[in-house]
Amino acid sequence: MFSRRDMLAVSAAGAMVTANAARAASFGNPDEPPQGAVNAKAPGNLKDPGPQSEALGKQFPSAQFPPATDVGGMPMDWASFNNAPKRVQNGGWARQVTQADFAISDTITGVNMRLTAGGIRELHWHQAAEWAIMTYGSCRVTVLDAVGRPYVADVNEGDLWYFPAGQPHSLQGLGPDGCEFVICFDDGDASEFNTLLVTDWFAHTPPEVLAKNFGVPAQTFARIPLQNLWIFQGTLPGDLASDRAAVSKTGRVPPHPFIFRLGTSAPAKQSKSGDMRVADSSNFIVATSIAAALVTIRPGGVREMHWHPNADEWQYYIKGKARMTVFNTGPNAMTMDFNAGDIGYVKKNLGHYVENVGDTDLQFVGVFRAPRYEEISLSDWLTHTPPALVAQHLNIDEAIIAKWPDNGPGVMPNS
Ligand code: MN
Ligand code: MN
Repeated sequence: MFSRRDMLAVSAAGAMVTANAARAASFGNPDEPPQGAVNAKAPGNLKDPGPQSEALGKQFPSAQFPPATDVGGMPMDWASFNNAPKRVQNGGWARQVTQADFAISDTITGVNMRLTAGGIRELHWHQAAEWAIMTYGSCRVTVLDAVGRPYVADVNEGDLWYFPAGQPHSLQGLGPDGCEFVICFDDGDASEFNTLLVTDWFAHTPPEVLAKNFGVPAQTFARIPLQNLWIFQGTLPGDLASDRAAVSKTGRVPPHPFIFRLGTSAPAKQSKSGDMRVADSSNFIVATSIAAALVTIRPGGVREMHWHPNADEWQYYIKGKARMTVFNTGPNAMTMDFNAGDIGYVKKNLGHYVENVGDTDLQFVGVFRAPRYEEISLSDWLTHTPPALVAQHLNIDEAIIAKWPDNGPGVMPNS
């Protein structure tokens, strides 16, 4: 049996037939260091007598039996809303994955929320900026910008919103069945459970100060709630035009919308195997701290090998089945599996691909704490580097390199 080091030496000497035979037998990571199932020779080596949860284990075939190319160890890059405890109230629920739950995620806190038809996420504000993607149904958002201009809009499946830090807002589920969505705060230490709530402030201000502040008798505030509402059941609002008219007393409106219809926007990249839609501050002007890419991959397709030079990637898996390998110096490479409702995380500049390993479309959204979406495509780099230089690195003929995609297709294969 050839080791990989032997194989490369033979290949460099030109004995390609022998080398290819050796490659077929030992391709992967069989020698330095000896890690992976490809090295397992001892009887019973790959048995896993347990105890174990079969249901849970089946969700992670890549962790149970990593590809032979995995090596070393890396911080856990998988988390999920599926096992995050729900905080349920009348009118909806929310659950979250913060950095306290998911150590690697220091740039983003993720929140998954459901509001019933009429369910209200109380008027509030917070320290972090809030970005969100609607994954089911519809809701109405309200926000007041930093110079006092009000904004009201309805968002539907595939739409985004963005509220800059400190700008007060609300959410309310619409008919027929409310909504579900995912929020990202641009801070891994943020929490949906400790936002600044309008009811809390009223309840903790002396009534005589409330009276002076609003220019009405203190008795006006006799029935305010003494505990905050956070999420509560309300009545469905009227039509959007009426709400807009009701808030536009000065006629001033923000110059740029706080929502963006990402799902129906034109793809930034499109190939036979899928597409990518991008929203950042170049087209979603208000989103100065969060950029996002919505990626759809057909069965068998792969989001091409790439990295992001300007930010970590926080991923939310919307549908389908994926596996992703993240590569770092060392070398280290770790492969994990992702299903709907799961979260992935890739540190800035670490190489990765995302492969559709199911038989239905895979869709996920990558969220980046950055004003602009940026990526470096491996094939784009290597096809815009002198071919002879690339050929000498990889022992691959220049004629083959000339066939590689040179347009950063996003999702492969593209023919
Ligand atoms: Mn909020
Ligand atoms: Mn990526």
